[in-house]
Amino acid sequence: MKKNLQFVGLIFSAVLVGCSTIDPVTGLQTRNMYSLDQDVGIGSKVYDQTLEEMRARGVPINEDRARVAQLQGMVNRISAASDLPDLPYEVSLIQTNIVNAMAAPGGKIMVYEGLWDPEKGLTKDDDEIAAVIAHEIAHVNARHSTEAMTRSLPVNILATVGVIAAKDTDYEQFAQIVAAGGLFLYNGIWMTRYSRENEMEADAVGMMYMAKAGYDPRAAIRIWERASQQRTGEDPAASIFSTHPPDAARLAALRARLPEALRIYQHQ
Ligand SMILES: [Zn+2]
Repeated sequence: MKKNLQFVGLIFSAVLVGCSTIDPVTGLQTRNMYSLDQDVGIGSKVYDQTLEEMRARGVPINEDRARVAQLQGMVNRISAASDLPDLPYEVSLIQTNIVNAMAAPGGKIMVYEGLWDPEKGLTKDDDEIAAVIAHEIAHVNARHSTEAMTRSLPVNILATVGVIAAKDTDYEQFAQIVAAGGLFLYNGIWMTRYSRENEMEADAVGMMYMAKAGYDPRAAIRIWERASQQRTGEDPAASIFSTHPPDAARLAALRARLPEALRIYQHQ
């Protein structure tokens, strides 16, 4: 029993202390207990599993080859202008009317047709969809998902400490419990609720990436303004607005960034 508690303490201090790393975007110290390779591994697995599940439910995916190639071209162009250009970026076009786009850690992205369709989509041109993709690629570069997982891990471990202390379980069982907790986190990845700070950072960084890639950064303001007007659409829970409330503060921050982004865009 005492030995188990010592072990738990050891894990705990490793989680709290041993995961200081450099943020690829800011160059500053940050806490992330996952490596960049693990970002790619976790993200790829979640991406494959999600696509498999969607296919099993009959959701049409990537059926318009020309559109998917166009989308992948934009992802390649924006990611090449990012801080982590060498990740295995990949995008799927989910052909349902949901207005959303999301990224898993490591560069796997999903765009829904409700967001990007020539007639019904919320985005009206290449610059506008580029703004959303750049925002998602900024989340990937800043490693917001695994940072959030790092923050929530001590809470999960705390919950298991009680179980171990009560049952005097051994190392193997503990490992199983942690693995189960890890699996739970896995499934929640697409639904990561980024902090407000993370969202503002993805806005700011994404605007620079799109400008560097040669997309007009004014489109970022246009798309979020339109989003704020259309917020009361169908199925709001599944929409990009539920995770990205386009409020006045976000728009003001984007507008403040625009002159710098325009300078980059015009000097391409
Ligand atoms: Zn976001």
